Amino acid sequence: MENNFKIGISSCLLGNEVRWNSGHKLDKYLTHTLGQFVEYVAVCPEVEAGFGVPRESFRLVGDPDTPRLVTFKSKTDHTDRMLAWAQKRVRELEKEELCGFIFKSDSPSSGMIRVKVYNEKGMPHKIGIGIFARAFMEHFPLVPVEDDGRLNDPLIRENFILQIFTMKRWRDNLARKPNMGNLVDFHTRNKLLIMSHSPKHYRLMGKLVADGKKMAIKELYQQYQLQLMDALKLKTTIKKHINVLQHVMGYFKKQLTGDEKQELLEVFDHYRSELVPLIGRHPAGRTGPHHRFANAHDPGIRQRLFRDFYAGDCLVFYTGMSIHPTRLKSLNEADARKGDYVLYWMQQSQRAVYNHALEFAIQQANKLDRMLLVVFGLMDDYPEANPRHYTFMLEGLKETRAALASRGIKMILNLGHPPEVALSFGS
Ligand code: SF4
Repeated sequence: MENNFKIGISSCLLGNEVRWNSGHKLDKYLTHTLGQFVEYVAVCPEVEAGFGVPRESFRLVGDPDTPRLVTFKSKTDHTDRMLAWAQKRVRELEKEELCGFIFKSDSPSSGMIRVKVYNEKGMPHKIGIGIFARAFMEHFPLVPVEDDGRLNDPLIRENFILQIFTMKRWRDNLARKPNMGNLVDFHTRNKLLIMSHSPKHYRLMGKLVADGKKMAIKELYQQYQLQLMDALKLKTTIKKHINVLQHVMGYFKKQLTGDEKQELLEVFDHYRSELVPLIGRHPAGRTGPHHRFANAHDPGIRQRLFRDFYAGDCLVFYTGMSIHPTRLKSLNEADARKGDYVLYWMQQSQRAVYNHALEFAIQQANKLDRMLLVVFGLMDDYPEANPRHYTFMLEGLKETRAALASRGIKMILNLGHPPEVALSFGS
């Protein structure tokens, strides 16, 4: 798909049997979900440095800043061999133009944080960095990195996804001719994202771009990239999001009706009081600020909001979202029947994102290793519907079908009473 770009990854996380004991550490979120949006470049330092599978396991010992890589039982020191290989490998990786790297946690070769380092008394302290991970981070200080363990935290995951997508857009921008016009264009498209992480960086970077003509273009690009990645390392907060939302509302003040403005201000208050989430719908039915913007009467608002602010990153948040148990209701105890697909009956929520039921269906399809089929039943006699309503709905369904297709999901729209249409595909 259009968004595919390269991310480095510790090979065992892809299910490759490269661990010391011939095992793997397959992470299905990384392969099945994030893997839809990125192309992985797998690296296994211990195998690539020639230690074979199976092999004796390693550990880090000595000074946490310059630890030695030593085999667990025979106590052979392989640090120099691993360091030499790592220096060569990071230079090779330059050509891959990676937008991020996902490391295997706790590994003496691949762990990026809190790896055990044993002192002279044999006591472990979780303060080290794996030999290859350190070489990578020193060689590519601006490339976003995370490990599989930390990515289980939804906030860290969201932040990493934003970082890698932004890095991808930045790399696309670098591929164009470096000049003021292209930098201004990038900044205009990403400035609200930057603001949601750091109003301070938003101001500094705005000034940097405004004064850009005073410095050499290469220096300007370097400083901008440094600030961009610094900004995205800072976490977003409700207060920062409200600030951004007020800016967004300012952009659309001419298109929004008085009622819509009033309604948005009330939703901002609900969001501030944590009664609604930023994106999507509260289980009690109230929708959050982004949903209200997206549903404003002017379709241009939706288009600009998503193009200029989110730039597609949200899609990944929602494909990876966990479904809260209170959202799930089993209607029977039956096992899944044999068949070619998992059926998702789309009716009320006609959208390919922000849709918990759809995401749950995708998860079930992945689990059962079947395709997902989405069906929609269209009636030609909705009460009080007029041609304008039908046009609006059909345009929306066309967009939804295209969005589903971009995720590899087939959608069928059949004329008929909706429950009968759904049943006909479920039988
Ligand atoms: S943690 Fe790193 S070195 Fe160990 S098996 Fe995985 S990729 Fe290879």
